[in-house]
Amino acid sequence: MKRFLLILSAILIITSGQSQGLLQEKNNFTKQDTLRGSITPERAWWDLTYYHLDIEVKPDTKFISGKNTIHYKVLKSYQVMQIDLQSPLEITKAIQNGKALEVRHERNAHFITLKSNQTIGDVNSIEIYYKGNPKEAKRAPWDGGFSWKKDKNGKHFVATSCQGLGASVWWPNKDHMYDEVDSMLISVTNPKGLTNVSNGRLRQLVENNNNTVTSHWFVNNPINNYGVNVNIGDYANFSEVYQGEKGDLDMNYHVLKDNLAKAKTHFKDAPKMMKAFEHWFGPYPFYEDSFKLVEVPYLGMEHQSSVTYGNKYMQGYLGSDLSGTGWGLKFDFIIIHEAGHEWFANNITNKDIADMWIHEAFTSYSENLFLDYYYGKEAAADYVIGTRKNVQNDKPLIGAYHVNNEGSGDMYYKGANMLHTLRQLVEDDEKWRQILRGLNSEFYHQTVTTKQIEDYLSEHSGIDLSAFFNQYLRDVRIPTLEYSHKNRVLKYRWTNTVNGFNLPVKISIGDDEQWLYPKAEWQTLGTSSSKKPINLNRNFYVILKEKR
Ligand SMILES: [Zn+2]
Repeated sequence: MKRFLLILSAILIITSGQSQGLLQEKNNFTKQDTLRGSITPERAWWDLTYYHLDIEVKPDTKFISGKNTIHYKVLKSYQVMQIDLQSPLEITKAIQNGKALEVRHERNAHFITLKSNQTIGDVNSIEIYYKGNPKEAKRAPWDGGFSWKKDKNGKHFVATSCQGLGASVWWPNKDHMYDEVDSMLISVTNPKGLTNVSNGRLRQLVENNNNTVTSHWFVNNPINNYGVNVNIGDYANFSEVYQGEKGDLDMNYHVLKDNLAKAKTHFKDAPKMMKAFEHWFGPYPFYEDSFKLVEVPYLGMEHQSSVTYGNKYMQGYLGSDLSGTGWGLKFDFIIIHEAGHEWFANNITNKDIADMWIHEAFTSYSENLFLDYYYGKEAAADYVIGTRKNVQNDKPLIGAYHVNNEGSGDMYYKGANMLHTLRQLVEDDEKWRQILRGLNSEFYHQTVTTKQIEDYLSEHSGIDLSAFFNQYLRDVRIPTLEYSHKNRVLKYRWTNTVNGFNLPVKISIGDDEQWLYPKAEWQTLGTSSSKKPINLNRNFYVILKEKR
């Protein structure tokens, strides 16, 4: 999730001056950006193994307090550890082996000097206590923090979201994508009468004496920090068992009590989604943790095994079709898109947020594969091609590395159309499906770089895709096939392309479709009549332009 409103509103706000502003922004990264976005020496020496996040949430005063116990394996002897927590939250103490430790604060990065020797191979733990009024999300999920809302009955309706901004906006952790914790316990205390739903499975529910309840949720699989969430509301729930590729999968739905009847009908898209995506991408990656949809007071987010939902029980994206073709109204956008992230974002996770296209391109592409499964290939093509109207070509899909910087919002629909183009090149739908499934098994529960994905796709398609990816991921120009057709000779070449760009495309001369292998230099092809129109196969995301 993330960029959609930006895309929809981009028409209004993006001016030619803004891309210059974005370039300036790139040169203006701060030390805080580097501390947040790079694998600093104070991060590199330890490998996360387990978090126990244990907090109390007080909606009346918008206050949270508690601790995170961090277990880690020592990779290299080092005595200083970086922990991230964003102001106005504050670390009140850090404890190891019963001893209070010295903490040096550098705004949102905190450097803790350890007293015990850190021996390579040891698994140690440290407790980080914290408290405060966390940043309030004003337009979740685009900013992030806590959403402190109330439902129609005046009951508290609270949720966290933190993509991009980072989980350290509400809990202390190693806030970098490269290192996922192996498993996690999330313990949340909240006022009695309200229910908290977090990731994984509910292990225990304890009623306390002081009018509060504590729920303990256990996540049995690696999880990225921004996937962790707390959702507190007056929830009702229902569930079903889905017979999936890996056996029985528990699918649970937590919705506001008033919406229970509506949800029971509307959430039929969830098992439909599971069927289509297991077909295209392989088994759901978190059977042990179940799959949940959890209603929240904002649009939605791909929280691992507890996908959050706020699409108001409408079809499309809050009732609108992002493709303008009508096909986008055949499904609930948030259920399909956010659940698609279970494969691309939660299973295969980018190591650096600069490579976030891995999450959003494949997931936006998954929308058309859902349609393909139920409505066929042409419907799916209509949809993905329809979404091209959202592309801005403002900056490359890949952002700046090591400074917690995302690439262009074009990572969604330009990314999806790049993958749709790739499917045409592979020219074998079953092979393409095995490539998508292969990605999910090869990089199962891993964090990856763009290079790894590029290499995998080149190797398994049997096509050298390096120039293809340079064009679509690292350049803003859409390749243009320039041609002239005179005296029964078709002249053609690529323009607006990177060095070595040699994408073959399908064109038709009259009714006959054929592959063309353009390069940057003009080439010629004899034809039977100059009167026959030249058309480009619409599935290729390139521009056709007649040179007069
Ligand atoms: Zn997304």
